[in-house]
Amino acid sequence: MSRVLIVGAGLTGSLCACLLRRKLPNKVNIVVWDKSRGAGGRMSTSRSPNDPSCTVDLGAQYISATPYYARIHSSFYEELLAQDILKPLVAPVEGMMLKEEEIVNYVTPHGVSSIIKHYLKESGAEVLYDRHVTHIHRKSTTWEVCCKGGMPERFDIVVLTMPVPQILQLQGDVESLIGENQRRMLEAVSYSSRYALGLFYKADTRIDVPWAAKYVSNNPCVRFIAIDDKKRNLASKTCGPSVVVHTSVPFGIQHLEEEKDAVQPIILEELEKLMPDLPQPDSIKCQKWRYSQVTRSVADCPGQMILHSQPLLVCGGDGFTHSNFDGCIESALKVFEVLKSSL
Ligand SMILES: Cc1cc2nc3c(=O)[nH]c(=O)nc-3n(C[C@H](O)[C@H](O)[C@H](O)COP(=O)(O)OP(=O)(O)OC[C@H]3O[C@@H](n4cnc5c(N)ncnc54)[C@H](O)[C@@H]3O)c2cc1C
Repeated sequence: MSRVLIVGAGLTGSLCACLLRRKLPNKVNIVVWDKSRGAGGRMSTSRSPNDPSCTVDLGAQYISATPYYARIHSSFYEELLAQDILKPLVAPVEGMMLKEEEIVNYVTPHGVSSIIKHYLKESGAEVLYDRHVTHIHRKSTTWEVCCKGGMPERFDIVVLTMPVPQILQLQGDVESLIGENQRRMLEAVSYSSRYALGLFYKADTRIDVPWAAKYVSNNPCVRFIAIDDKKRNLASKTCGPSVVVHTSVPFGIQHLEEEKDAVQPIILEELEKLMPDLPQPDSIKCQKWRYSQVTRSVADCPGQMILHSQPLLVCGGDGFTHSNFDGCIESALKVFEVLKSSL
């Protein structure tokens, strides 16, 4: 049995773990570490501190299938639809740009992190949170992986699925193992940055707008607003509504190095101008997405990058493809091919 560490419990990492378990069941012992307190990464779902049943998706909002990806990834879509993890988007969205005809949008009634939780459960992996990987050292035929405040552990194979700048922050032997050409390619990867606010409301609060989500084009700060429960078509009214607000990328970049506490009131002030009748929320969560969506991925890349072959150290994620559901599936499948041929 090879001991495989997957760093990152986002979509790419959870799907890599699931593919390993399903396709190579007796060959691997899978461990997933993530620095956060829960699963999802940029597909995370936040809960209201006052009512855990009131949730909001602060990152990814929809799963949008083009005809091409709906066909080549049909088994992934079918599995999630059969389990009611994905449902077609039926709620009205104002100003959505349909880049391609016949695109089908899906929502996740239980929050977008339900996709990741599904894959992690299927993987049977040992999943540990609050594990912030800082150093990776080579020890003969294995890797010694260190995380903040924890004991180092040994693994036969390591898979890195975090945003590319966070891969480049790793210390230890991994720094010198990244070849000059590979480093240049990784350093060229870029991401947009934005803030997200989640507003949680008490039960029985009414938000009377004719849309479930709306793209805003005439405000320097706010780019997108969704009445999240309405967007996800949640029937239950046992908890209050929730609202998510995404800022524009120029606003995100302008305020990137400021504290969240200083930026939150600016976003709220702009939101009030756009929605003066919005009731006062019960609680608010502010999220800074320093690495939001990939604006330039690794050039000429087959969806993964092998940093070292024996022992294997490989990286994947949307930085190696593109920033959405299908980009992560594409990368996870490519990482899996590399793992399969080395096991
Ligand atoms: C605001 C926003 C809106 C978006 N909208 C959409 C959308 O509508 N539809 C869509 O399909 N996609 C959307 N995306 C993109 C989508 O969310 C991402 O492409 C996808 O979630 C990336 O998954 P990943 O697993 O590759 O990376 P991530 O989700 O970033 O997962 C990487 C994980 O690694 C962990 N990590 C990082 N460093 C370390 C470390 N040193 N040690 C341990 N763990 C570490 C992180 O905590 C994280 O959980 C959006 C993203 C954002 C931010």
